[in-house]
Formats: sequence, C-alpha cells, structure tokens
Amino acid sequence: TPDVKPLVAGNWKMNGLRNSLDELKAMSEGVHDALSEKVDTLICPPATLLYVATALATDSPLMIGAQDCHTKQSGAHTGDISAEMIADCFGTHVIVGHSERRTDHEETDELVSEKAAAAWSAGLVAIICIGETEAQRKAGETLDVLKRQLAGSVPDDATAENTVIAYEPVWAIGTGLTPTAADVAEAHAFMRNELTARFGKEGAGMRLLYGGSVKPGNARELMGVANVDGALIGGASLKAADFLAIYKAY
Ligand code: PEP
Repeated sequence: TPDVKPLVAGNWKMNGLRNSLDELKAMSEGVHDALSEKVDTLICPPATLLYVATALATDSPLMIGAQDCHTKQSGAHTGDISAEMIADCFGTHVIVGHSERRTDHEETDELVSEKAAAAWSAGLVAIICIGETEAQRKAGETLDVLKRQLAGSVPDDATAENTVIAYEPVWAIGTGLTPTAADVAEAHAFMRNELTARFGKEGAGMRLLYGGSVKPGNARELMGVANVDGALIGGASLKAADFLAIYKAY
C-alpha cells in the first residue's frame, strides 16, 4: 500500500527458552541497517522472555511485543497477563485473536475486540488476527468470514496507528500450505475495502499483514501482493537466519 511502512512480525508462540535469546540478539543486530528505515520489525516472544527481550533490543530498531493480553488491567485472573504489564516491560505491540487462541481458548470476536481496546488503553498497538478455516474456504465462505471477523473483532476506535490486521488463513498456519497470490490479493483487497468503508482514511492506511507458512522462499512473492503490508510469521521467526531473510526480501 502506498505510504504504508511494512511490518515484518514474528510470533514465537509457546517456544523459546533463555537460550533462544542468542537468536533474538542476532535478529536485533541484523535489522540494525538502512533497510529498517523502510521496513519495521517485531518479535513477540513468550511472556516469560518479554522483559529480557526488550532489554536486549533497546539499541535496535527491532520492536518487541506479546502474544495475548487480558481485557482487564489487573485483578484476580490467575495466569493471565495484562496490556499494562506488557507496556511496563517496554513491549509495544500485542497480538490478539490469533486462531490458536480462538480455538484453544474459545475466544470470540467480542472478546478479541475487548482485548484490542485494552491494548490501546495501555498504549500498545493491537495486531488483530482473522482468517477462515479450511472448511469455510471450501464452502466458499472466506469473504463472509473476513467480513464478520472484521466487524466483530475490530473496535470502532481503530486507527492506522493503533491497529494492524493480520489475515491468517487457519489452514495455512504451520502447514506449509499457502493461498495463491491471487487468493491473497482478493482477501486483502476485500479487507481494504471493508476497512476504508468503515474507518475512512484510517482504514486506507491500516497495515494488513499476511500470515500462514511465510518462509524465506515465498516471502518476496507474498509480500509483493497488493494491499499486503508485511507478514506475521510463526515457525520461520524462530531462527534469525530465516527471519532476517524474510525481512531482506523487501
Ligand atoms: C502464525 O502463527 O501466526 C503463523 C503464521 O505461523 P506459521 O508461520 O508457522 O504458519
């Protein structure tokens, strides 16, 4: 999208022990270059590594975020972390509504929307994930699903600054399968139209990431599709060599 700085974001999921910090260090050094003026980078490690990760990346353009947050700032919610805690650890972004959370924890569009609002209250950027299942794609329901998830998961106050949308077809996550460039183009053009109709110029400037089996070998093609403003990367974000190769595909 013209005038939109792309974002290459990594989601480590439930992976990463202290010894993974060597990879993170290599990433933070690897993105310390001229390309970082044109392309933003972000890694979302597990919450256990958040604070040490931000300390490690302080002098780097690499941003650090989290993978989920609670809707409340604090309180009796054992095991959860709040957006305020993420911001307190110098995290700048939080992923909300990832399909694994929608499936494993039965998160609804309404809950995801509340989490995005909580992220903004703490000054974080919300990366809101949407995407159809294989059955929905086969039934020809993809665009209906995207329409419904955008309407339900994105709060009314969304702006180009506080929100990133990640289109992640569920069947493409961790499978090595990807939609064709034409399918990605169709989904992203549809999302752009929906967001522009609802949010005007904020929707026109919102970053739309593609996620689902992005690898060094397919990054250039996928990132080159119209209305694709970066990637959300799972597996290939665990190794600095892969993550940096995707970043350098720009
Ligand atoms: C993800 O979980 O956001 C993702 C896109 O995973 P992968 O790249 O491993 O398919």
